[in-house]
Parts: sequence; C-alpha cells; structure tokens
Amino acid sequence: MANVTLRDVRKAYPNGFEAIKGVDVDVADGQFCVLVGPSGCGKSTLLRMVAGLETITSGEIDIGGRVVNQVEPADRDIAMVFQNYALYPHMSVFNNMAYGLRNRGMKEAEIKTRVEEAARILELGTMLTRKPGQLSGGQRQRVAMGRAIVRQPKVFLFDEPLSNLDAKLRIAMRVEIRKLQRRLNTTSIYVTHDQLEAMTLADVLVVMNGGQVEQVGNPLAIYEKPATTFVASFIGAPPMNLMSTRADEIRSQLGGADDAGILGIRPEDFVITDQTPTGGVALALTVEAIERVGAETFVYGSRAHDEQRVAATPGELPPGEVIVRIPGTEAPAIGQRIRVAAVRAK
Ligand code: ATP
Repeated sequence: MANVTLRDVRKAYPNGFEAIKGVDVDVADGQFCVLVGPSGCGKSTLLRMVAGLETITSGEIDIGGRVVNQVEPADRDIAMVFQNYALYPHMSVFNNMAYGLRNRGMKEAEIKTRVEEAARILELGTMLTRKPGQLSGGQRQRVAMGRAIVRQPKVFLFDEPLSNLDAKLRIAMRVEIRKLQRRLNTTSIYVTHDQLEAMTLADVLVVMNGGQVEQVGNPLAIYEKPATTFVASFIGAPPMNLMSTRADEIRSQLGGADDAGILGIRPEDFVITDQTPTGGVALALTVEAIERVGAETFVYGSRAHDEQRVAATPGELPPGEVIVRIPGTEAPAIGQRIRVAAVRAK
C-alpha cells in the first residue's frame, strides 16, 4: 500500500517566510491527487517536501505507512517528473531512461526489459537511439515520464509537467497521463496552476491558497459546492458570479433575508428569459461585451443601475458585472437589455 499522508505539515524558509501553514492531506493507494492554486500558494514547496527536496519545518509526511521526514529522497521510493524535463542532452533516449536504474546497480538485462516496456507504453519504441535535441517537446516529456515509470516507484510526483507544451499537446498529454496512471495504478501527486488540468486529472483535488488548503475533495463536488469564495472564483472558467445578497433586487427575491451573504451562480446556470423562476433569481442586465467561442457564447452584462450601489464584499465580482453562458448559436447585441434567471443558486 502506498498511501501518502500529510499531517499538519509546515514550512518556514530560512528567511522566516512561512510558505506552508499547516496542511493535512490524505491520498489513498492508487489515487491521483492534484494540488492546484495560484502562483506562490505553496504547491511546489509541498510537493518538494514529499519528494524530500525540501526540509519539513514541522508535521509529518507518511508514505506507505512510514514517516519519511528524515528519509533521503533516493530512499523514499518516489519518482518525480519536472516541468523542464531535466533530461541529459548528451545521452540517448534509452540511456536517459536507464540512467537511474544503472545508478542503482540493476542488471543490464532487467534494465533493457524495463526501458523497452516503458518505451512501448509511451510509444517511444522507434526513438530509443535519438538524443533529446532530436525530439519534439511532447516526446521529451514522454521520455521524462518513461524515466519515472522504469523505476516502478510507489508514488509519482509531477511538478507542472505540461506547462512547456502548446495548448493542443497539453490536452493530448493530459489524457495520456491519466490513461497511464489508471493502467499502472500508481499513487500520484500532481501540481498545476491550471484549474482545467486539475479538474480533469484529479480523483482528489486539493485547492490551495496562501500556504493553506481551502478545500479538498472530488473535483465535481468542489465545482458544485465550493466551500469558500476563493474556491468559487478559482475553479471554473469563466468564474462563478458572486453577488451580495444585500443587493435590493436579490434580497427581495430570496424572501427578504437580511443576512449579509454571498450568492454564487455559475455562468451556465443562467438562461435568458423574461420569467422569474420560483425560488430562483432573476436579473436585468445590459450587455457590455460578448465572446463567441464556438459551442458557447459568454455574455458580460452589467446589472441595472439601482443594484450597483451595493458595496462589493471580498471575493465578489465588481458590482454590476455578471457573466452568462448561452448556446453558441445565440448572441445578443452590445447595449441590449436582457433579463436572465437562474434556479440553481449556491
Ligand atoms: P508557482 O505556481 O508560481 O510555482 P507555487 O504555488 O508552486 O507557485 P512555491 O514555489 O511553493 O509556490 O512558493 C511558495 C511561496 O514560498 C512563494 O511565496 C515563494 O516566494 C516562497 N518561496 C519559495 N522558495 C523560497 C525560498 N527558498 N526562500 C524563501 N521563500 C521562498
């Protein structure tokens, strides 16, 4: 069993900066865990602590039932895939993949079997004699993954492995990584700032902000029920609409509740209609901008003038701005007044 457990893990850098402020995460054996959050939130620091590349100020990291705080990286039975691939330019693809195994004194026959098997899985079989300089970005990333696979580690650690690839290749490789992980069933921790990558790869998603965990769970559950306004605006693109329930029109529709709260409505939960649904929220908008992206159209609207005087609370959209997703076949005109309604408010 190779579950990974982080218990109240903290990291203060030598300059005193506290990059990780007490994190608890449990990754079950065979699960794919994604750490996601904005730049500087501490996700790489956390991953490097699991890898043993960064010391742990306090707390415990447990891999497969063993506390590894004092264990050297090479003895943690993990393999890491980096953003910059970290390949040896003067070595062939075969030797790049074999390098770590040779260092461990493995027999050449076993090395050959493992490298050829990994090359077959990654479709690199015809490229084993090439040097990294003779490969495309995607192929280099596959070699970097091959080097991790041949080790047959208990845990894979990925640090933004797809960030250097163009958009199309990134999507293709994202699918490949997921297929590969399902096939090998190796516990994995994956760091990214890309919320779409996080949503599509994760069994368990950890949303981080400012050195702390904001929410942990199944990605769709987090999308449906974000625990904080940070999560609500970070997960989902374009972001969830966050409005103060104190806005006059919204308050009266919600039955006059006086509690100052924040109402979240996803762009896709609005429809353009003149009707006000029972238990829902309807808004009058002036269309400020539209984005037609093919299958869907995003409408950026401003709320009616009398609602804009409500002060924005932290995490909320600027007063008046609402994003609505409608089918790509539709597009209102700029300046047009529309009425939208949503039943599924959060
Ligand atoms: P990115 O997506 O930009 O890589 P990240 O979430 O991975 O961001 P980290 O690299 O983990 O963030 O850094 C977390 C915080 O710790 C940042 O504010 C960073 O400036 C700080 N930090 C990182 N390394 C050190 C260091 N050696 N000394 C002091 N502070 C550091």
